[in-house]
Amino acid sequence: MYKYTFLILPFCIGFLLNCKSTEEFTGFSYDPPNVTDTQDKKVQPQHRRVIGAGTPTVWVSNNFEGARLNDFYSVNENTYEVFIEPENAPINNSPWFAFEIWSDTSTTSWIRLNYNNGRHRYVPKITINDSTYSVEMENTLYDTISKTLTLKLQLSQDPILVSAQRVSSSETYNSWLEEMLAHNFVSQTTIGYSKLGNPIKELMIDETEPGKQVGVLILMSRQHPPEVSGYYAARYFFEEITSNSELSKQFRSQFIVKSYPLINIDGVLNGHWRHNAGGVDLNRDWTNFNQPETKAVRDALLPLLEDPLKKVYYGIDFHSTNENIFYPIEESVPTSPDNLTQRWFPLVRTNNPSAVFAYEEFDTSSPISKNWIYKTFGADALTFEMDDELSMDTIEQIARSSAQSLMTLLLEEKNKVQ
Ligand SMILES: [Zn+2]
Repeated sequence: MYKYTFLILPFCIGFLLNCKSTEEFTGFSYDPPNVTDTQDKKVQPQHRRVIGAGTPTVWVSNNFEGARLNDFYSVNENTYEVFIEPENAPINNSPWFAFEIWSDTSTTSWIRLNYNNGRHRYVPKITINDSTYSVEMENTLYDTISKTLTLKLQLSQDPILVSAQRVSSSETYNSWLEEMLAHNFVSQTTIGYSKLGNPIKELMIDETEPGKQVGVLILMSRQHPPEVSGYYAARYFFEEITSNSELSKQFRSQFIVKSYPLINIDGVLNGHWRHNAGGVDLNRDWTNFNQPETKAVRDALLPLLEDPLKKVYYGIDFHSTNENIFYPIEESVPTSPDNLTQRWFPLVRTNNPSAVFAYEEFDTSSPISKNWIYKTFGADALTFEMDDELSMDTIEQIARSSAQSLMTLLLEEKNKVQ
């Protein structure tokens, strides 16, 4: 008797803990407290300005889209300190920075990146004349106690851009949109406006015949502003579906794509670490829909439920982290089609032998976009995380090959049903 009690008790405790975690999601291990409270929080304004310090004077500016720099001081000869703060705190540790820097005279300077409410994470990128490269390790010093990074820069009167990741302005976004819209099967709709009144765009691929039963693929990206590699992956993924290949053409005859490439536009333009202009992590707002950006995407997709000719087959939300990792819905959850991610993942790995891909399944309790897609349409969905520090060529290779293998799988799946 006692023997059975000992066996059963740990099982019950495990069961109860498990039940609690699926019913009351309060945040992932890396989230700050109260992340699921998505009502507006106070956001600290970033004062746009040019600041000069030291002799010879070194100048910095945060007066451009995507900038983040809160203060600047001279520490001693040739050493300067940049202060970086998040839009509000507490916040996940994705400390975005972006500033221009120049000097009255040509000089070698040491610039310390000092973070409030965060610790150093991203390898600094330098952009000169539209060309972006990562600062080499030998030109940086990381302080393990203060969690700051100091970088050595050659400065002159010509400003250079120093940033956590490649900075993409709305001008480059709009020129990409124009490029996509040159295809007669791509259309653009403004589905709503962000907290600060910026348009949230949907890009749709539709080359299907009217009146025909079609599949739908949903693509989302940039809910989190610094996650640039995931954003570019989403773009290349979309581009591959618009390509002239036989596979893409066949796919476009049977599937439409509804894509939301830049969901947190305010966060991107204002150099936020994570949140929107309401101070909220948008990818924790897919149950409460307190923020205009999540509401806009939801309301653009909900009419699909009423359309008997359209069936959502799959959804992907692109992000970035410190590795390539798939976060699928766990295999035991029935989706329609079922376990698509589990079948797709080995193909992505095989097609990118030099990249390392991790994989971790989750239950559907968290208020994130992937789970909303599953709960609303019954479809399988994925959080597709790209490594923060991938080269643009690698991002393109992974994204295009992944789009190809997914199109093949989805076509097989759809033809199975017919
Ligand atoms: Zn993210």
